[in-house]
Amino acid sequence: MATYRGSVCRLCRRESMKLFLKGDRCFKDSCAIEKRNFFPGQHGHSRRRSKIVGYGLQLREKQKVKRIYGLLERQFHGYFEKAARQKGVTGENLLVILERRLDNTVYRLGFASSRHQARQLVGHGHIRVNDRKVNIPSFQVKTGDLVSVREKSKKVPNIVYSVEMVGSRGVPGWLELDSSNFSGKVLTLPVRDDVNLPVQERLIVELYSK
Ligand code: SF4
Repeated sequence: MATYRGSVCRLCRRESMKLFLKGDRCFKDSCAIEKRNFFPGQHGHSRRRSKIVGYGLQLREKQKVKRIYGLLERQFHGYFEKAARQKGVTGENLLVILERRLDNTVYRLGFASSRHQARQLVGHGHIRVNDRKVNIPSFQVKTGDLVSVREKSKKVPNIVYSVEMVGSRGVPGWLELDSSNFSGKVLTLPVRDDVNLPVQERLIVELYSK
């Protein structure tokens, strides 16, 4: 699956907000939004932030969510179509599907300091689900699943550090972390309130419904 390989801080600057794509650095003064909060590119600093309405607002909201979860357009649109086929509110369904991705779950449990790092952990085979290796970042977790770090990866410095830091970030209520065993359980499927992101998913539905 293709991934964006450019500077992720550019993405935050384009959205004029912190998307928390770089782990620890996002909480430091060196964050690009703290230092250079203007649009990226040669003329970025002279571009004025005009009030966005209508299509522009819907587009920015979609781009924001795509970038937070590290997805490209085709995969994101596929998730939208899946959400639209489900019962309930499409926008909320979409966020729940995204939240249930294995890479996001690994990030939420604190085994990685960013979703990007979590995707790498999954892709490189460090993660097990119900004691079986799963190296597909888009894998959807379900209630009762046990997500764990494989035995010989429990000493990987990045993982150890992330688990040590998880206290300051917290684990959402739909997950239960057992930090001493580097494992976590999916207690229930996430709901909209568990997705603590400043997004208006309704605008994404409006955009794709045109
Ligand atoms: Fe965004 Fe983090 Fe880069 Fe700051 S450090 S601009 S929050 S990715």
